[in-house]
Amino acid sequence: MFDSDLEKLRKGAMETGADKAVVIPASDVIIDPRVRLKCMIPKCYMSGSCGHCPPHGYSIQEVKDIVSQFEKAVFFRVKVKSDIIAAESLYKAVESGVLDRNGNAFNLTGYYILVFSIARILQKRARAMGYTRTHGFAAGNCRDPFCHLQPHCQDLMTKNGCRHPEVSLHSMEASGIDVFLMAAKTGWDHYPIGGSCIPEKVPQGNLMGLVLVA
Ligand code: SF4
Repeated sequence: MFDSDLEKLRKGAMETGADKAVVIPASDVIIDPRVRLKCMIPKCYMSGSCGHCPPHGYSIQEVKDIVSQFEKAVFFRVKVKSDIIAAESLYKAVESGVLDRNGNAFNLTGYYILVFSIARILQKRARAMGYTRTHGFAAGNCRDPFCHLQPHCQDLMTKNGCRHPEVSLHSMEASGIDVFLMAAKTGWDHYPIGGSCIPEKVPQGNLMGLVLVA
């Protein structure tokens, strides 16, 4: 029953926008403190400005404790065209918060929202199946997709907590989960993409998410 439900959730990820999804044992989730450190050294523009991003968010020990409570997970991938995710104008647009004329930052935000949405949909479906414990991880920071129009992250700057607890999630990478290695072990092509990438030289971009179920 558990395995067939997980398979339904995997298919649900594909139906709702993932291009690949697999069911994995929770013990295959790879946690490495160096992944979380990469958000801070060199400092990502969002490090320190979002409650779900390093140095805030879950500690490595908290992530280990969370993952250890689960048996299985759906690991999924959303494919992003390289001319969007590696677009020349993107890095400046993302860092400045001003959209580029070609709309690449806008389009990329849509892909990030899709990852949050798939993770939240799978959690909701798992709960409807009777699994009371689920935990989701998305990709990237949550401030650009959900609080871009706000002056600050409410979770970080006030005692009221996150402004969007129903949709927001911590990302895999901000939580120290080695997404690259997990993708490689799953057999998925994955390419590092930085601000100086040339779109024609990047076959594709990927964003990934994870939903743990017990
Ligand atoms: S969704 Fe907004 S309020 Fe919540 S953690 Fe992210 S940036 Fe902060």
